[in-house]
Amino acid sequence: MADVPHDDHTAIRESVRALCADFPGEYWRALDRERGYPVEFVAALTKAGFLAALIPEQYGGSELPLAAATAIMEEIHASGGNGAACHAQMYTMGTLLRHGSTAQKERYLPAIAKGELRLQAFGVTEPTSGTDTLNLRTTAVRDGDDYVVNGQKIWTSRAEHSDLMLLLARTTPREQVAKRTGGLSVFLVDMRTAKGLTIRPIRTMMNHATTEVFFDAMRVPAENLIGSEGEGFRYILSGMNVERILIASECTGDARWFIGKATAYARERNVFGRPIGRNQGVQFPIARAYAQMRTAALMVREAAALYDAGRDCAAEANMAKLAAADASWAAAEMCVQTHGGFGFAEEFDIERKFRETRLYQVAPISTNLILSYLAEHVLDLPRSY
Ligand SMILES: Cc1cc2nc3c(=O)[nH]c(=O)nc-3n(C[C@H](O)[C@H](O)[C@H](O)COP(=O)(O)OP(=O)(O)OC[C@H]3O[C@@H](n4cnc5c(N)ncnc54)[C@H](O)[C@@H]3O)c2cc1C
Repeated sequence: MADVPHDDHTAIRESVRALCADFPGEYWRALDRERGYPVEFVAALTKAGFLAALIPEQYGGSELPLAAATAIMEEIHASGGNGAACHAQMYTMGTLLRHGSTAQKERYLPAIAKGELRLQAFGVTEPTSGTDTLNLRTTAVRDGDDYVVNGQKIWTSRAEHSDLMLLLARTTPREQVAKRTGGLSVFLVDMRTAKGLTIRPIRTMMNHATTEVFFDAMRVPAENLIGSEGEGFRYILSGMNVERILIASECTGDARWFIGKATAYARERNVFGRPIGRNQGVQFPIARAYAQMRTAALMVREAAALYDAGRDCAAEANMAKLAAADASWAAAEMCVQTHGGFGFAEEFDIERKFRETRLYQVAPISTNLILSYLAEHVLDLPRSY
């Protein structure tokens, strides 16, 4: 593994690395083949309390700063593992924490902190509207003490491995809302008891427990509405910065893993009677990937520091995600090239990580949409859509 960052989280990084050492490449490779869920890994992370890092102490979490949470996710990825199986358990609860009622927080957060309750399904994206979230079609209509939900979500990751889902649905038709972003509401759906809920796994190019979810007159108690009806879009957005910063740290972790692998291989692989790493044609892409990773890590650090200081970090969270996803993808490409044919062999894990890290150019937000955000909101260029 390349380069361990110097920051205030050395002890956390060391314990995450020690935990990950019990889950080597063979573990992830076997799961990748069968598209299996890393049950043992998630259980170990939960038991160690890492997934409750951002939950306040009063609810049984460790109330660590976001910067510490980025160290956890980065080390998982730098160790060759993948936090996508459970990263949402860390941040999805943020919407409940910031906008839920006291009763909701007391009911759910302690159990989430203990790992007895899993809240890691996030139902926002739909097949027809895609990135255009305000155009989503799933509806929730009040009926007595319940809301009745009809519609469909896609790419709802971990739905089969979660007890609760945070669901965004339309409660007021778009043409009746006063402001563009109004009329959407957030619900906490208890999937253990929900009727009219169907989950279908989607097989993807990497091992990612993602699904499509169908709602057919699914009743959700009105007490499970988070915050005020119609304000859901704002609540969801407020959690997205944390998601972007954490996933950016997974990307810098991936980049460190690729760089570590490539550097070791370039030192030991002899062709034409000398290590391939003596050729600058091999050295320079590794050095460039390293510089790109370090630069991205700085933006992740800045975004997390702003968030931890309670300041606006939307631009920085987006730039961290953009820079880190580019850094991990560039490092992945470099690592395959440095390994020549062996880059394609399963047992080196490179092709697996290559497939895994490709996702972050698209999810949780695509590169184009980040550029569009920066153009419009930071550079004050005309709105394009
Ligand atoms: C493995 C996986 C896991 C996921 N997990 C979840 C999850 O747990 N919960 C959830 O809600 N969602 C999840 N997603 C969805 C993810 O957030 C979306 O796939 C992503 O935001 C892109 O949306 P889309 O796929 O609908 O693409 P689209 O919106 O259809 O866009 C397609 C392409 O067009 C580009 N594009 C669209 N509009 C514009 C524009 N105006 N200007 C320039 N370019 C544009 C996009 O950048 C993209 O490259 C997941 C996706 C994947 C693949």
